[in-house]
Amino acid sequence: MSSLSVVDAELPGPGRNDLVRRLTAQVAELEALSRFTVEGIAERAERVAAEAEGPDLTEVRLRAQLVGADMVRCQGDHAEAGRIAQEIRRWATEQQRPFLRARSAYVLAAIFQELGDSATALEHAVEAVDLMDDGAPPELRIDHSLRLADCLGQHGDTSASLRYADVLALTHELGDVHRELVVLNNWAYIESLLGRFDEALPIAQKLEVRSTELGEALGVGRLDTLGRVLIGLGRLADAEAVLLPGLSPERLESSTDGDAGADFLLTLAEVRRRLGRLPEARQALDDCVVRCDRHGLTAIRVRARQEQAELHAALGDHRTAFTEHKLFHEQLMQLQSTQRDARARAIQAMYETGEARRQSRRYRELSLRDPLTGLYNRRHIDEQLARLLGPGSLPAASVSVALVDLDHFKRINDTFGHDVGDTVLRRVAVLLQSAVPADGARALGGSFAARMGGEEFLLVLVDTPAERAVALAEELRSTISGHPWAAVTGDLPVTASIGVTGVTGVTASTDQTPAALLGRADALLYRAKASGRDRVLTDNG
Ligand code: GH3
Ligand code: MG
Ligand code: MG
Repeated sequence: MSSLSVVDAELPGPGRNDLVRRLTAQVAELEALSRFTVEGIAERAERVAAEAEGPDLTEVRLRAQLVGADMVRCQGDHAEAGRIAQEIRRWATEQQRPFLRARSAYVLAAIFQELGDSATALEHAVEAVDLMDDGAPPELRIDHSLRLADCLGQHGDTSASLRYADVLALTHELGDVHRELVVLNNWAYIESLLGRFDEALPIAQKLEVRSTELGEALGVGRLDTLGRVLIGLGRLADAEAVLLPGLSPERLESSTDGDAGADFLLTLAEVRRRLGRLPEARQALDDCVVRCDRHGLTAIRVRARQEQAELHAALGDHRTAFTEHKLFHEQLMQLQSTQRDARARAIQAMYETGEARRQSRRYRELSLRDPLTGLYNRRHIDEQLARLLGPGSLPAASVSVALVDLDHFKRINDTFGHDVGDTVLRRVAVLLQSAVPADGARALGGSFAARMGGEEFLLVLVDTPAERAVALAEELRSTISGHPWAAVTGDLPVTASIGVTGVTGVTASTDQTPAALLGRADALLYRAKASGRDRVLTDNG
């Protein structure tokens, strides 16, 4: 699905033009449809992609794959969908195919929207509109403009309204009533999201009127939009009246994703609670929770907890209300951090290929840093020492290490607490960083400071002979003990013991392995501790 090979041999013979025409028409139909239908689209797109072989059909094949990627997004696999879309966008950029680039930007905008990154979503949505020329199918021009309006609105930009007005006009021109209803719904929803309920109301009413004219019953998602607008205006009884038809089982069950149904029930519960109809509110809320659990809707479940707390409070049960409220906060935090993790993973995965390798370099760099001090971590130490000393490494003139351990650090924690301990660690890290000499051996990779773990640090000094390393370590030791610590640790001094060792004329041999080097430094450090602390010890000294 993701292979973008463009060297396929072209089928010879007659009928080739027919094939190109047929597949192009099929993919165009899928592109226009996929906005509305999910069923069967992925399979059809896959069939078109499989048939579209040969260099003259590459763009058609990629368009079909993009439709497939959009379906993958609908199923919730943002990383995979994003990876495919990025890859296609890269090809389209290199080959200067603006339509395909616009299509991939359109899919990427939706992915970033759903990942909650409204700024990146907006960037893609702008590109998706800019690159669509007037010759593009009007359905797609509507879809792209609508997504731009949605992204603007979710980004908190009130100019979304102007966009919606334009898109709505386009749907009238085309006489596309399905798209008209989508535009009205999204517009009303975004206006209420922006807190502009007065602006939202006429749009929501238009949605209601147009649906009636067209004989289309409003689904629970659209009822929810209407209900929210009325709640925002304080018209609670009207809101309930509008929502009620959604309770019919056909309508509640007709939404394919459980999302819309659960959202709807939550809105209904809120209205009823605020109207003082508590048992009925409870009923709607219970149904909502059942639906959340059945469909695994974590985010709505968390919001339902908040509503449960409000409801208990309204019933005068403040103890249970408090418990629910606490649970709500805990789960909200948890949800936010899970969402952040998922988002980071998805974004990282989709950038693994493509033009933004920069992004994944940044993630890699982060994984090599210690979060408390910002110094390199143990992983970086291991990687670098293996590179410098491992078999097949470039011969460095010399590599020295200085293993630094704070003296009686436990006393600082015990006396002033862990936070003060952390402050000391961060300051020592700064002093350590300043002790790293400017790099004279760039080709070999430079010297660096790192945190081994706990209150133990390491300087790795490349092309630095042992005597020079000892002098640097001695300077560091006296800088640490001479630092104005009184403001942090009062009368308690902060000092460090350091073990320094190194190798010269590096060749791979057993006493020059990273483990051997660190082992020697550790033994020296131990002797520095035993002989009174606040000192530097080295081999033969
Ligand atoms: P010595 O002079 O023999 O090295 O004594 P010490 O007290 O420095 O050594 P010990 O190994 O007994 O204690 C190290 C302490 O460092 C224990 C641990 O709680 C604390 N520590 C480890 N990591 C952190 C950290 O990230 N923050 C803080 N505040 N303390 C830490
Ligand atoms: Mg210590
Ligand atoms: Mg220690």
